Amino acid sequence: MNAKMNSIQPLDPQAVRPDFPVLARQVHGKPLIYLDSANTGQKPLAVIHAMDRFLRESNANVARAVHQLGEEATSAYEGARDKLAEFMGANHRDELVFTSGTTHAINLVAYSFAMPRLEPGDTILVTQMEHHANIVPWQLACERTGATLKVAPITESGELIVDKFIDLLTPDVKLAAFTHVSNVLGTINPVRALARACRKHGIPSLIDGSQAAPHLPLDVKAIGCDFYVITGHKMAGPTGTGVLWARKEHLQSMPPFFGGGDMIRKVSFSGTTYADPPHKFEAGTPNICGFVGLGAAVDYLSSLGMARIEATEHALLEYATAALQQVPGLRIFGQAAHKAAVISFLIDGTQSHDLATMLDLQGVAVRSGHHCAHPLMDFYGVPATARASLAFYNTREEIDRFVEAIEKVRGMLA
Ligand code: PMP
Repeated sequence: MNAKMNSIQPLDPQAVRPDFPVLARQVHGKPLIYLDSANTGQKPLAVIHAMDRFLRESNANVARAVHQLGEEATSAYEGARDKLAEFMGANHRDELVFTSGTTHAINLVAYSFAMPRLEPGDTILVTQMEHHANIVPWQLACERTGATLKVAPITESGELIVDKFIDLLTPDVKLAAFTHVSNVLGTINPVRALARACRKHGIPSLIDGSQAAPHLPLDVKAIGCDFYVITGHKMAGPTGTGVLWARKEHLQSMPPFFGGGDMIRKVSFSGTTYADPPHKFEAGTPNICGFVGLGAAVDYLSSLGMARIEATEHALLEYATAALQQVPGLRIFGQAAHKAAVISFLIDGTQSHDLATMLDLQGVAVRSGHHCAHPLMDFYGVPATARASLAFYNTREEIDRFVEAIEKVRGMLA
């Protein structure tokens, strides 16, 4: 833990747990221990109530109704954009495009920004630790334009080799796309330094912030990237919500991705003109209630304080890592110096799916699989891992029970 985090008073999990009703339930007759927050985060009452209230009292379509409910819905939806702009450290609310999640946001950039700029011989730079959502859209763009992907390597401990990344920033690179926090390894990449290097070489950068936004303070201005994407359901919000933040000049230069209602200025059969960003990229009726929920999620996280969330989770990570290291035959994937609270692991002589299934019977929810990161699994030469991902609502007692459950299951599977 660094000195800054050390000086921050961690959150009291017993004070925040009542905010998350699902944490009180039982699974297979055992108290639920939810260690799958990197997959999707649990939702606080503040979000559940905001969505419930919106649907009961203000439900209407946005931007087109002049009646009272329409105005309330529009102001709740656009109010969420203000909250998210502040949460992300954006200069202006118009820099935020609402999407269905990170996957949608990256595809939007791949189709509207990258594809028109790519030619045969060009490249897009990604890293070995990317989620498929930050690989496949670029591959699709490459297939259609004759460009190719370049991959920045990582070390065995799961850290990006920054010098190699910088060496790869040659004139053929038309965009660099990298994750802020790895969903498998927990590695926190030095995004400011990476974005600065890209800028120095005149290369636009896109950062996948899916696993960062729920866990650490964000400031897209200070990072200095060109695009930053987040997904709502991992940060206490509902599924089907996400944000593409982009520099205004990019949004202005990019053609629309989807066409339809709400993204136009004037439609005629001889030609159509488009609305200004961000609405140019928000065709059709959006996930209004979802963004009301995401706005409430951002208020909730901000009320706890992202720096406190980060410090709380870091202390839990250290506690859990130390405990897991005592388990014979347990190997942790991802030992970066700067890590978020994600622990991928395997135990000698067991399959990760068997382990996760048996842990579930003990009430412990962990993920098992390739975590949508086949190239990373290939790097480590394994088909899958088990993954425990922690959040500020987890407790040390839960981690103790998780480790006890592992010991029990290990004995049964050996
Ligand atoms: N990137 C990372 C690092 C992720 O962890 C995830 C979700 N697992 C995604 C992208 C995709 O997010 P979504 O499925 O919400 O679009």
